Amino acid sequence: MKIVQSTITILSFISIINITHAQQKTENIVIVTLDGMRWQEVFGGADATILKNKNYTKDSAGTSTAFWVSDITERRQKLFPFLWRTIATEGQLYGNRWKGSEVNNANRYKFSYPGYNEIFTGYPDTLVNSNNKIWNKNINVLEFINQQKSYKGKVVAFSTWDVFPYILNTKRSGLYVNADVDTLKFNNSALQLINDMQFLTAKPIGVRPDVLTYFAAREYMKAYQPKVLYIAFDETDDYAHGGEYDQYLKSAHAEDAMIADLWQYIQSSPIYKNKTTLIITCDHGRGDKIKDNWRHHGQKIEDAGQIWIAAIGPDTAPLGEVKTNSTLYQEQLAATFAKLLGFTFTADHPVAEPITSILKK
Ligand SMILES: [Zn+2]
Repeated sequence: MKIVQSTITILSFISIINITHAQQKTENIVIVTLDGMRWQEVFGGADATILKNKNYTKDSAGTSTAFWVSDITERRQKLFPFLWRTIATEGQLYGNRWKGSEVNNANRYKFSYPGYNEIFTGYPDTLVNSNNKIWNKNINVLEFINQQKSYKGKVVAFSTWDVFPYILNTKRSGLYVNADVDTLKFNNSALQLINDMQFLTAKPIGVRPDVLTYFAAREYMKAYQPKVLYIAFDETDDYAHGGEYDQYLKSAHAEDAMIADLWQYIQSSPIYKNKTTLIITCDHGRGDKIKDNWRHHGQKIEDAGQIWIAAIGPDTAPLGEVKTNSTLYQEQLAATFAKLLGFTFTADHPVAEPITSILKK
């Protein structure tokens, strides 16, 4: 009798495990960040005032033709067609404060390194307060996933900014991070061509253009099938700092198109199709209310801690713009990435809870 009982207990335990696994369809994750991309443009499209200001938009007529229309729904779709045609119908978007959906930095600094640290470690460490090339002491979720069975060597990152090897601490983590013009040493003709191109580009923002980061990531994905791929774009932040609103919009639009191209590949590949979750977000926001502050961010800039998140994948319900009861935080992303793959991210620092609404269909 005792034996029978424990057998039943074991059997029901196994069936619970099976049910949990059966609910989890995500086997791969693709994460994309648009550096310093404001939620105001994501949810509202081009801003009329900044667009009309000749100091910020040299070709006001041309930029307006490309991105302006009076209806806000059409306007944001002009700027971010993939977000508003595909993700809005098949995935989720968070951070439209005009509709009461808030996503914030938990870190107080509101600039890049602290933001990326928060995204990937789940911990808004107050000691992470510089953009300098400092090896990050905090364990990140990408290296945690890379240590899990069947994910070893299958977690990679491609970034435009050259600080990412430090943020993700490649020295400790062993992750493959290809940043700026890091040589693409692959026996693959597409990657060799991109490698040559990145050394010959004029580098308008001082590092390789986002489009080369994108192509390097895409061709790597096709050739080597990583299970977790992170792509970090940078141009939006650089053009905003430079006060070039037209270029800021053009980069945002181009990055949306690159993400659309990648999703098209994912959903046409038997390896990735319906087994891959895509999450798009940013490291920080920028100012809004005070004139000129759209260019800036940081501790002293009001509103710069306001961010946004978009998600699409087999475990994510097609809710479109999600109405949230409480504020979400950037620190919740690390655990969300891990949970999508069925893991609970733990480290020797506190880790914030995942965003559960992304995880259930
Ligand atoms: Zn910046």
